[in-house]
Amino acid sequence: GVPVLLHIIFFQAVASPPSSNFLLLGPSGAGKTAFTTLLEAKSSPASKKSHATHTSQQSTLATVTLPPTVPTGSNRYRSVNDPSLKEAIRNPIRYRVRDTPGHGKLRVSQGLAELSTMAQSKDIKTRLRGVLFMVDTAALVDETTLRDTATYLHDVLLVLQKRAKNGSSSKRTTEIPVLVAANKQDLFTALPPGSVREKLEAEIERIRKSKNKGLLDAADTGLEDEEEILANDEQETFTFKLLEFETGIKLEVVGGAVKGDQEEDFGSGVRRWEEWIGMCL
Ligand code: GDP
Repeated sequence: GVPVLLHIIFFQAVASPPSSNFLLLGPSGAGKTAFTTLLEAKSSPASKKSHATHTSQQSTLATVTLPPTVPTGSNRYRSVNDPSLKEAIRNPIRYRVRDTPGHGKLRVSQGLAELSTMAQSKDIKTRLRGVLFMVDTAALVDETTLRDTATYLHDVLLVLQKRAKNGSSSKRTTEIPVLVAANKQDLFTALPPGSVREKLEAEIERIRKSKNKGLLDAADTGLEDEEEILANDEQETFTFKLLEFETGIKLEVVGGAVKGDQEEDFGSGVRRWEEWIGMCL
């Protein structure tokens, strides 16, 4: 009857609005569309809608749910007997993932522009909770792919660094954490997350060095340049730890595989990325 209907309407209205936004970045072919499609399929197993991993020219926004057994930052110690688990099953936590095209030309106009806009947003509804930067760990052995991937990540981190610096010291902006989702760990040629981390750090160090040299040359010719160096201290070798020390931006490299998620044999699937997302919520 009417009370039930009212209850449903009320319940749906209050049931965790998907106010937490995550941005999915990374070069094309990394598995971003496959990941978004998987999250959507897991969120509503009944609907078989698929983005059918095509090369999209536009970013897409998907509202998905966190598996009830994944703890959240505000509910860190959820155990099987915890009453909050029942609540999480009844009323799963929803969040939004924006998938962006990773093609070179679209990165600046879409991925990085999207990042700047979302990172500047003061509205809690559109606030960016975290950035997932996806990489194909089997493709990183190729020098060109590594350079391309590291350049994109460098540019993403520079946007976040500028944001961190612009926040006034009295009202510190909360830093947006970054997850490097080291995808395709199911492949036998995949680099383990630890070496993905090292390779990216070393390549970003090279980018910084050459950028710094460019700035010095520009200074010689008297040209003013407001460009800044990632993690500031160009005397020290770049590491993600240095970045965190200098800017407060936390970055983690976590392995996983979109492909193996539904099967038992392939380690963790995307579970550990979902755990990282949960910790941001
Ligand atoms: P995007 O350009 O980043 O959106 O990448 P796609 O989602 O289109 O994926 C590119 C290709 O990688 C597709 O053929 C996917 O099926 C494949 N792929 C995605 N994730 C995995 C994974 O974990 N393991 C393997 N082996 N292949 C994957």
